[in-house]
Amino acid sequence: MSSSTETALDARALRADFPILSRLVDGRPLVYLDSAATSQKPRAVIDAEVAFLTNENAAVHRGAHTLAAEATELFEDARATVAAFVGAPPEQLVWTSGATAGLNLVAYAIGNATVGRGGPASSRLALAAGDEIVVTEAEHHANLVPWQELAARTGAVLRHIPVRDDGTLDLDAAASVIGPRTRIVAFAHVSNVLGIVNPVAELVVLAHAVGALTVLDACQSAPHLPLNLPALGVDLAVFSGHKMLGPYGIGGLYGRADVLDALPPFLTGGSMITRVTLDRTEYLPPPQRFEAGTQPVSQAIALAAAVRYLDTVGMDAVHEHERVLERRLREGLRTIDGVRLLGDSPAGIERVGLAAFDVDGVHAHDVGQYLDSRGIAVRVGHHCAAPLHARFGLTASVRASTALYNTVEDVDLFLETLADVRGFFG
Ligand code: PLP
Repeated sequence: MSSSTETALDARALRADFPILSRLVDGRPLVYLDSAATSQKPRAVIDAEVAFLTNENAAVHRGAHTLAAEATELFEDARATVAAFVGAPPEQLVWTSGATAGLNLVAYAIGNATVGRGGPASSRLALAAGDEIVVTEAEHHANLVPWQELAARTGAVLRHIPVRDDGTLDLDAAASVIGPRTRIVAFAHVSNVLGIVNPVAELVVLAHAVGALTVLDACQSAPHLPLNLPALGVDLAVFSGHKMLGPYGIGGLYGRADVLDALPPFLTGGSMITRVTLDRTEYLPPPQRFEAGTQPVSQAIALAAAVRYLDTVGMDAVHEHERVLERRLREGLRTIDGVRLLGDSPAGIERVGLAAFDVDGVHAHDVGQYLDSRGIAVRVGHHCAAPLHARFGLTASVRASTALYNTVEDVDLFLETLADVRGFFG
């Protein structure tokens, strides 16, 4: 194991900003290694949500009173802040309630284009029976099930890019799976089980060569890497507020301007219209076309506080710091008897601080409970990626995942404790 404990940021100092990290679990200091499920929130985020609810709380847009005007300004400023964090202009960021909602929005809107809803441009997004939707074998269910549903509704065929034993995507196979009938290629930037940063540029080239739309699930990259969605060349992308220091119930859908323009709405009702008669309705342009109903205002404002916090620390520093944790985690896991890493790719593969593994002879849930009894929080189960677990002959694994507030000591304590697990269960 590397002996270096120097990293690009002072995680011990940052921890003071996260109130929950000073609590005890069963009398022991909490070691939180479950940030891939949800991140902890700094005081600045908690305060931003409370301050809005305390001082400006009002529904946004079209209110005639002072609070509504202030709330609208804060809400739209938050959109600009979060859009800038992913390199996009504000009109290309749609608020959603999370990544699952964003992916369903896209899949259902394409389904609506297929049945002839939307303007003339929407027909280019419509699917015909026999068209193909391509995902990867490593997707979170949120980026799989909506496409299964879309395929079932339209007669499209769902295909997948396989994962190699080392966890990397089989790009040779991708080049043959993505073909003339492919209309959509949907894939994760970073798998929530493997932690590997996928080759977005290569997949975008393959997809665009056949005129297919690319949909990126950036849930597990946005909290850990500098992210510029337009520069990645994807057409649509989703991310999740609660995984990037923000609150629950908020996420983003980024879209290329012409793609969002062509996309019919999914949810309809108030807030997304220009004119309604009893017979018909005209819709607002994006992003409001996709934001029906009363908006998650306090959540958007708190997410803006989260990305300001991340920007202040610096995403390059976050990435560098987590690289050190990731290497220590993975190298340490390899030395523990009976531990098998899922997708242990060779050095040189870009990753975030995340490792999923199986412990020979001990069920993942027992491992999780043992660690919890020592104050260490990890995730157990299939992590909403059952097909990927089946690919590795498993139904469950243990996953340890880091964030900017984890220290080298957190990783070391986790590794030392895990080393005792097999002995404990005999
Ligand atoms: N995609 C990936 C890769 C994830 O890890 C998750 C969360 O576990 C999701 C999608 C779903 O995100 P949300 O909780 O915002 O719906």
